Amino acid sequence: MTNSLGILGGGQLGMFICEAATKHNIKTTVFSDKKNFSAKNFCDNFLIGSFSDQKLLDEFINSSNFFTIETENIPIEVIKQIEKRKKIFPSSNIVEITQNRLKEKNFLNSINGVKTAKFEKIQSFYDLEKYFKLFGKIGILKSCEMGYDGKGQYLISDKNINNFKQTDLKDYIFEEVLDFNKEISVIVCCSKKDTILYPPVENIHKNSILRQSIYPARIGSKVKNEALLLAKKIAVELKLHGILAIEMFLMKNDELLINELAPRPHNSGHWSLDFCKYSQFESLIFSIFKEKVMQPEPLNSCKMINVIGEDYEEKKKISEKYKFYDYFKGEIKKLRKMGHYTFKN
Ligand code: ADP
Ligand code: MG
Repeated sequence: MTNSLGILGGGQLGMFICEAATKHNIKTTVFSDKKNFSAKNFCDNFLIGSFSDQKLLDEFINSSNFFTIETENIPIEVIKQIEKRKKIFPSSNIVEITQNRLKEKNFLNSINGVKTAKFEKIQSFYDLEKYFKLFGKIGILKSCEMGYDGKGQYLISDKNINNFKQTDLKDYIFEEVLDFNKEISVIVCCSKKDTILYPPVENIHKNSILRQSIYPARIGSKVKNEALLLAKKIAVELKLHGILAIEMFLMKNDELLINELAPRPHNSGHWSLDFCKYSQFESLIFSIFKEKVMQPEPLNSCKMINVIGEDYEEKKKISEKYKFYDYFKGEIKKLRKMGHYTFKN
């Protein structure tokens, strides 16, 4: 029982967490709200059902002594219940902030020296029209909760704004469109005693979905150090124990704006599976089960490519050339992340 980990969510991130846990002799129990999930054949035990099923949740809480998440989109009451009885990494406070864009952005802007894109809270179509005009008749409408891979986001212009007249806009923000130079991300991981940082990678998105991560990010050393500093600062403010990914926009004047936080391993950190001595998943395990986290020790410059939707049909061809990571999704869906591969660059 000492070395057991309960994981909320069983997607590809959960699957990789299970693999890292197994490598270090830690027994895993996955709680999934989906019948078929990536981690199914990688965990020691699993529970399937609604997170709000109290009986299942009790069973899950009894299954392990430490807990983590592979998505921040878990009802906060569930995280709080676990926290009352066992240790969960990240804390409920971190999940509460990062699962809601408005809370997250208010938190970020409250930190000295940390900035985000300009945004406004939206509660009605009236608000949307108001800020649309104030922002120069362009902006992004983003749902506060449950968004990922660009879901729940709409680029608003004169052409489509009226389509939102009937939409319930209670829980949205409206954000300025940034003309950024590039996107980068940093992963920070903290144990009880120390903190490590994965160096910035450069992220290329298409239709708001990550397509490629390039290590190292093609940025100057000043920007790199600033990105690392910002990541550390945010981790300190959150009293992070566990792992956190920080997405940033590098502006044309070299200013860094924070886009969003993810208190779990991140797609842009998958390169660490092959090109670091210690992957982001192992670091998460160390942060929970050991006093010390290890320096990641990158081995080579590389690129990570996401295999999305129908591109999965080419997986045989990909596997002949590269080490292909299959996410074992039940079915191919348009714009769904199906797997990834990495190569030396
Ligand atoms: P998600 O939770 O879906 O990842 P993000 O807010 O990170 O949501 O948005 C996804 C992507 O959309 C970003 O990585 C970026 O490419 C683009 N994007 C988001 N916000 C902006 C913005 N304010 N200006 C320009 N592009 C943006
Ligand atoms: Mg994002």
